[in-house]
Amino acid sequence: MYSNSYLKRSWVEVDLKQIAENYRIYKNNSGGKAVMAVVKADAYGHGDTEVARVLQSEGVKLFAVSNIEEAITLRKVGIHGEILVLGYTPAECINQLLAYDITQTLLDEYYAELLSGKGVKAQFAIDTGMNRIGLDAEDVDFCERIIRKYKNQYDLTGVFTHLCVSDTETDECKQFTEQQINKFRNVVDRVADLGLPYVHCLNSAGGLYHEPKDCVGEIIRLGIILYGLKPDYHNLLPAGIKPVLSWKSVISMIKEVHPGECIGYGRTFVADREMRVATIPTGYADGYRRELSNKGKVLINGCLAPIVGRICMDQMMVDVTGLRVKCDDEVILIGERYTADDMAHDIGTIGYEVVCGISKRVPRLYNEVC
Ligand SMILES: *Cc1c(COP(=O)(O)O)cnc(C)c1O
Repeated sequence: MYSNSYLKRSWVEVDLKQIAENYRIYKNNSGGKAVMAVVKADAYGHGDTEVARVLQSEGVKLFAVSNIEEAITLRKVGIHGEILVLGYTPAECINQLLAYDITQTLLDEYYAELLSGKGVKAQFAIDTGMNRIGLDAEDVDFCERIIRKYKNQYDLTGVFTHLCVSDTETDECKQFTEQQINKFRNVVDRVADLGLPYVHCLNSAGGLYHEPKDCVGEIIRLGIILYGLKPDYHNLLPAGIKPVLSWKSVISMIKEVHPGECIGYGRTFVADREMRVATIPTGYADGYRRELSNKGKVLINGCLAPIVGRICMDQMMVDVTGLRVKCDDEVILIGERYTADDMAHDIGTIGYEVVCGISKRVPRLYNEVC
């Protein structure tokens, strides 16, 4: 199933069948809306080529990435649907946008002017309160004027906005999200006669927590939940959606450590008893977060082993006292019982950052999908 044993120092396994399953379950829960698969940042560290191919074979026709390089990668491996670049592309790249049939987000009026006149496929971002990119939806007249002004300078295919608190279920956040959607609706209504095919405002969390029928547009931009992770640690995902990534390593050495001896850089851990300590050949250069020093845990043969001492660049040490483990045993760094969301929770970040942070030197292995 997952081969290439010579790579087995530190590696990631991605379950492509579960990605397809997560997509199907989410879609069945989203009131029939189309899904734009968000595969930016190498599909959140899972491997964009493999993930996009599986989703294309599931019928996905819309993809979103963060930059033109990612978009071209997808085109070159046979992704033939729409590919939307969600962020900035330098104006110098205009010919590549055209050559690869890539859709560029128009960030504001200034940026729209920069790339205008060449018939590039484009969608306008509308800022409904996040203050990141987009035409300011507070001024509906302005939005309408700019969209109409550039309609014929581009092959304009859509407008979209982004929700910034749709993962939080407090009354205040729900109200803010409603306001964002209403502001977006006001802009969309003004340009309804243009018949833009792609109108969208929901991310993973938005699609779960806002009745899709109350929303504007027929598309959900689905990112984190495709990968089976939660937008926010407190969110509940639909039954059957599961993380698709496991990160594994091995035990490279085992030794006895006596009371009073220290472990690792900075001597931050001192043994107060006889210990058995295993070394694991994964470190922060692999993206294993150093904040997990003396704090994180790994799983070996079903048992939890706490990290002792600081995470090094390429190695770490764990306490295996009393556990039945030996050299070469497989170690689970991220898996079903300790997910990227759990790890993120332990160090005060989000699952997104954990999976995006697994570095390129960690090979990704895939199961066959028939
Ligand atoms: C990253 C991103 C998404 C996907 O967000 P998830 O929370 O991962 O679903 C959607 N839209 C935009 C504009 C994004 O930048």
